[in-house]
Amino acid sequence: MFTPAMTATDDDSPPATDFVRDRIRADLESGKVQQVVTRFPPEPNGYLHIGHAKAITLSFSVAQEFSGKCHLRMDDTNPEAEDQEFVDAIQEDVRWLGFEWDALYYAADYFDQLYDWAEQLVEKGKAYVDDQDAETIARMRGTVTEPGTNSPFRDRTPGENLELLRAMKAGKFGDGEKVLRAKIDMSSPNLNLRDPVLYRIRHSHHQRTGDKWCIYPMYDWAHGQGDSIEGITHSLCTLEFEHHRPLYDWCIEQLGIHHPQQIEFSRLNVEYMLTSKRRLLQLVEGGHVEGWDDPRMPTIRGLRRRGYPPEALVKFCKHVGVAKFNSTHEVSLLDYFVRDHLNKIAPRRMAVLDPIELVIDNWPAGQVEMVEAINNPEDESAGTRQIPFSGRLYIEREDFMEEPVKGFFRLAPDREVRLRYGFFVKCVSVDKDDDGNVTRVHCTYDPASKGGNSPEGRKVKATLHWVSADHAIDAEVRLFEQLFTDPDPAKADGEEFLALLNPNSKRSVAGKLEPSLGEFAPGDRCQFERLGYFTVDPKDSTADQPVFLRTTTLKDPWKKKQGGGQKGGGKGKGGGKGGGKGGGKARR
Ligand code: ATP
Ligand code: MG
Repeated sequence: MFTPAMTATDDDSPPATDFVRDRIRADLESGKVQQVVTRFPPEPNGYLHIGHAKAITLSFSVAQEFSGKCHLRMDDTNPEAEDQEFVDAIQEDVRWLGFEWDALYYAADYFDQLYDWAEQLVEKGKAYVDDQDAETIARMRGTVTEPGTNSPFRDRTPGENLELLRAMKAGKFGDGEKVLRAKIDMSSPNLNLRDPVLYRIRHSHHQRTGDKWCIYPMYDWAHGQGDSIEGITHSLCTLEFEHHRPLYDWCIEQLGIHHPQQIEFSRLNVEYMLTSKRRLLQLVEGGHVEGWDDPRMPTIRGLRRRGYPPEALVKFCKHVGVAKFNSTHEVSLLDYFVRDHLNKIAPRRMAVLDPIELVIDNWPAGQVEMVEAINNPEDESAGTRQIPFSGRLYIEREDFMEEPVKGFFRLAPDREVRLRYGFFVKCVSVDKDDDGNVTRVHCTYDPASKGGNSPEGRKVKATLHWVSADHAIDAEVRLFEQLFTDPDPAKADGEEFLALLNPNSKRSVAGKLEPSLGEFAPGDRCQFERLGYFTVDPKDSTADQPVFLRTTTLKDPWKKKQGGGQKGGGKGKGGGKGGGKGGGKARR
């Protein structure tokens, strides 16, 4: 049903205007740039998360909008944390979102070029080898209010530095014994310009270059030059790199090579979600979740497994847009896009998650009637299906109350309700266990109400979903809450965020499903009427034991509890651009 190529371009919303696009448009109009080239440069040290989805959506859609190109570059300059597993997963996740890169590159493939450029810098007297350890270098860097102190090794001659750099490369020194630093200005108000480290010694095996190198370039030496080598015109990155831009520009100017324009935009934060690979790794390694693709994880894998449509994620990312300040978005805004999409495409089915038996006393023994149900009221072409109705059914336990409280309009003694697409039934008695709990509800039905149509204009106040007990299939159904109890789990330091984990974030129930759900394949999505959107777990389902995961509820119960409506991207706003950057709360 889903074709990847479709997603990125099937968006009917008008082209976005923002400072990124304005800048690009200006560069095209002035002739500074002929063809736009952007890139998405993940470090393959973990799985991508929802924050990356925003960066991906931005760089790829900008390229599409301006008929340009977008590269995927593995920013693999840090051998310790990186792995081929992540390299593969990143590609799969980007494609799943619906984007295809024009070229795939690896920063590690630039190591030779980057090293040659480092020698050039040394020869120009613009870089030197420092013998100080990392701690001393950090201490001598000064603070925002105090200038730094020159290293005693700063005035080595270019010849001496070149010899030392070559010795570093040849493996003559141990890890951390020496570094190569740019020679810029130890009293610059921008700390990044106080002789930043360009190369460090790491005798580590690199997943791509093997043991060829024992010195590795730092981000600041690798990134801009990587952009330059690839002919990137606009290098879009998150705000924390704003203070690195002068260094980005400095390196490129020193080398006199193609000069991409770095433009920074806000990071995406979503309430209750962590968007830091390091912290997500802690969750995985500590066994707090069941892997990177745990359906509660904000990773692309987790969201995908949980049934989030890629189209909805991309629309969400486009809707939140780019800004010059970081913001946190409500989960309900993301869920709005998920529901909006699923509402259009998800077939409706009936399932009972907390079953209680309903017996129809006047039903002809052994009779089964097929009733017709609409597959998707939003999509006529989805047609109808036949569901078996019989004298023994399951309904939701919470749809019956022996002593109904005020405002409860569902089934109760002497009360009549509609069983969706089935019949009107009226409760006549109940069975109870020794403790007085209702174990079975007895009803009578009205044969004239077949299809759930009201005979003689008789009104009922509730319509319940149900399944036929003898036809139902059993399935494990997993229901989720937020992984954290606090909307801002990132605020806690170190391991403290683990204390904010929600002990109720996952619950498993034994559901009774209408028989047609047995035909659903892993990854298929549907709506269980009144209960939410669900998907067949591609991981834990077996051929005879499907596992359904709830993607999202139909409404946000949390919001309901708070007494509030759906803020930001609620139906009223149609999720359109006009609704302001709904759901965005400025937080610096
Ligand atoms: P993390 O802190 O999760 O490791 P990162 O920034 O180190 O994130 P990278 O792999 O370096 O991860 O990120 C690749 C690209 O994705 C970068 O350009 C980065 O700016 C962008 N990115 C990462 N997190 C977010 C986010 N929350 N919102 C928007 N863009 C992001
Ligand atoms: Mg990074």
